[in-house]
Amino acid sequence: MQNGFINHLDLSVADLAISSVFYDKVLGRLGYTRTSEYEGEVPCWVRARAGATLSIGLHQARLATPHNRYSVGLHHLAFHLGSRAQVDRFHEFLLAERIGTVLDAPAEYDYTPGYYALFFADPDGIKLELVYEPRFDPPASA
Ligand SMILES: [Zn+2]
Repeated sequence: MQNGFINHLDLSVADLAISSVFYDKVLGRLGYTRTSEYEGEVPCWVRARAGATLSIGLHQARLATPHNRYSVGLHHLAFHLGSRAQVDRFHEFLLAERIGTVLDAPAEYDYTPGYYALFFADPDGIKLELVYEPRFDPPASA
C-alpha cells in the first residue's frame, strides 16, 4: 500500500463512446487494462504496480458546460514515461492513430533538469501530458 498515492481518477466526458475509444488507445498504450465497468456504466482502466493501483474511469457528463482548464477544476493530467524516445514514440502513435489533439509536440522544458514532455488534449479538450523526468530514473547500479 502506497499511502497518499492517487487511487482513482474519474473524468466526466461529453460523449462516453467517443472518449472510451480515445482512452482505450491512450491508456492501453500506457499499460492500463480495461476492466469490467462498475456502477453499470463507467468504463474503467486500471494499472497496478509495486503496491500502488490507479484506476481511471469515465462518466457521462450531465451538464453541457465545456471543459475549460482555466476555470476551477482540473488543469491537466500527466503520466510518466521512461525515456525521451518513449515520449517521441507516443507522439508518433497519436499522429498515426489520429486520436487526440497535439497541443505541444515533444520538447524539453526547464521545470526540472531534462524535463521532456508532450502535451495533447482528449476529445473534450482535457489536457494530458506525457513526461520523462531523469530525476525519477532508478539509480545506476555500481
Ligand atoms: Zn504538467
